[in-house]
Amino acid sequence: MSTIFSKIIAKEIPAEIVWEDDEILAFKDVNPQAPVHILIIPKIEIPTANDLDESHDKLMGKMIRMASSIAKNEGIAESGYRLIINCNQEGGQSVYHIHIHLIGGKQLLWP
Ligand code: 5GP
Repeated sequence: MSTIFSKIIAKEIPAEIVWEDDEILAFKDVNPQAPVHILIIPKIEIPTANDLDESHDKLMGKMIRMASSIAKNEGIAESGYRLIINCNQEGGQSVYHIHIHLIGGKQLLWP
């Protein structure tokens, strides 16, 4: 089932895009939880981490690499940041199109 992220990929609704290629889109979270809060998403629809299979290994690896590259561009690579994938209800997932949160720019607490 399509989500709001499909509309962002299709440019049907606006987003502050920070990086894009034919496979991946990265844009600023509309409700940032830290000074830097960017979502890295695949352009194909994968609802949750539970839906990953071997065919996605390369894509997910590239998404993590792009997240670290964006962290460098945002100037938070050395200070540090966090990459998060929420899965399903208890994981706090609200948009069912898999995404990596890149969060940083302040001291993060755990959990
Ligand atoms: P989740 O809760 O599924 O892990 O994360 C979904 C994220 O998407 C949330 O942090 C939320 O603020 C963000 N989000 C939801 N709708 C939109 C939107 O239309 N535009 C942008 N830029 N972010 C969105």
